[in-house]
Amino acid sequence: MLSQSTMRRSTHRILAQSPQYQVCRRLRSTKSHYHDAALGPTIRPPVEVSSMARLPTRFLLRSLVLTSLMTSKMFLRPALALMSVLSTSKSALLNPDRNIALNKLLRWTVYNHFCAGANKKEVSRTVADVKKIGYQGVILGYSREIVLDHNEQVSGDGSGATQYSKKCYEMVDEWKNGTLETLQMVGPGDFLAVKLTGAGPISVDAMMARQPMPEVMAKAVDDICIATEKQGSRLWLDAEQQILQKGLDDWAIEIMRKHNKHETPIVYNTIQGYLKGSKANLDHHLTLASQEGWTLGIKLVRGAYIEHETRSLIHDTQQDTDRSYDLIADTMLSRRMPADNRDLPFPKAALFLATHNAASATKAIATHQNRLLASQPTIMLECGQIQGMADELSCELVSNYERALAESSAANLTVPKAYKCMTWGSVAECMGYLHRRAVENRGAVERTQHMVNALRHELWRRITG
Ligand SMILES: Cc1cc2nc3c(=O)[nH]c(=O)nc-3n(C[C@H](O)[C@H](O)[C@H](O)COP(=O)(O)OP(=O)(O)OC[C@H]3O[C@@H](n4cnc5c(N)ncnc54)[C@H](O)[C@@H]3O)c2cc1C
Repeated sequence: MLSQSTMRRSTHRILAQSPQYQVCRRLRSTKSHYHDAALGPTIRPPVEVSSMARLPTRFLLRSLVLTSLMTSKMFLRPALALMSVLSTSKSALLNPDRNIALNKLLRWTVYNHFCAGANKKEVSRTVADVKKIGYQGVILGYSREIVLDHNEQVSGDGSGATQYSKKCYEMVDEWKNGTLETLQMVGPGDFLAVKLTGAGPISVDAMMARQPMPEVMAKAVDDICIATEKQGSRLWLDAEQQILQKGLDDWAIEIMRKHNKHETPIVYNTIQGYLKGSKANLDHHLTLASQEGWTLGIKLVRGAYIEHETRSLIHDTQQDTDRSYDLIADTMLSRRMPADNRDLPFPKAALFLATHNAASATKAIATHQNRLLASQPTIMLECGQIQGMADELSCELVSNYERALAESSAANLTVPKAYKCMTWGSVAECMGYLHRRAVENRGAVERTQHMVNALRHELWRRITG
């Protein structure tokens, strides 16, 4: 934390260079999506520097072309239909890993923009490129989604208990090895994104039935957590649809209880702010962490499955989701225990803000920074966006971090680190993931248009010198 005198001397300077100013300065000129960003009254403009100047030109051009296309309904509608077919088709002709022409077409367009690569060499290059841009770290996940023929899934032993085939157990091994391989592609300080459903039916069935983690899964997860800690990395558990999420939360708590022993968590669970029950879920996590003495790691998202969920579980409007998201971030950053457990101490905790929404990022960063500057207790905050999305926000966050670092020592920083989240796998393996990204862009037209404007502005700046 900052000492009082350092804080007073540098308060104005830090605020002028602060994310809330930097982000809000840009956001003031945009419409409703950002209208409620919190601005401090004494903030003055710093020297004008384009934070997107850090993007390589080839990256900028590809991003501009693709993002522009995504704002066009005429393009997006057939593109979505095509991606949906490609992500589910069993035809060799429509399999991008078998059809070379299709593979090349997808690579030149969406794959290279949204995915990290198909093998260690490609992924390492992408990770190095991203870090060269200035991100403080990456989050890497393996996209492979396991599909099993139902006939080879289970066999009965006459007792009524489910007996899984050898193939099901091999899937858990394959998943563990794929996850450990992914870990080797990131470095200390980076995150591993773990999808527990990727381990196949042994995992999915138990999660859905809200049973304890099967032994074979518990052993695999233990090995992954131990390797992650040994490497100096961290991991997060991706959130799923509600049919799985209650079981997944139980497992996540069990894993955090076992592995989050130090100040900084090794394991983060994901909370989806669009759920009406998300605040109560956070309170449950906080209470258990406090009572049992482990460190709580939370990655906060809005939620990606609105089109496939029971709608009544999700907040009625986007505004309600926004409020819920901001409340959860504020509860953690302000270290507020639930009303019925106020007497319990706030546990050791950390928050990862996973969002493309600049207003939410701005609010949370402002709260965090104001608390640090006022010497009020808070928790570690980090931010991240998905590769190929919201680059204007990501670049602002990176620039603010770099400016703050130039002004202060790393230990005294009041701005969060910025990460880029990426997925790797062959083109065919990534089709489901790419389809989800396209669906997300369809639902965020205003933000996508904002990104196009920022990219155009940066291109024009380069052309005109
Ligand atoms: C680094 C990272 C990791 C992620 N990991 C996961 C994950 O593990 N699991 C997961 O589910 N998602 C994950 N997501 C996706 C995330 O949940 C959102 O879908 C996505 O980020 C868009 O939300 P946003 O916060 O960026 O803000 P915005 O784009 O401003 O908000 C869009 C979101 O608001 C909500 N919303 C939209 N319309 C309505 C409505 N009418 N009523 C109620 N709510 C509405 C939806 O959640 C929608 O996705 C991740 C995102 C990031 C950046």
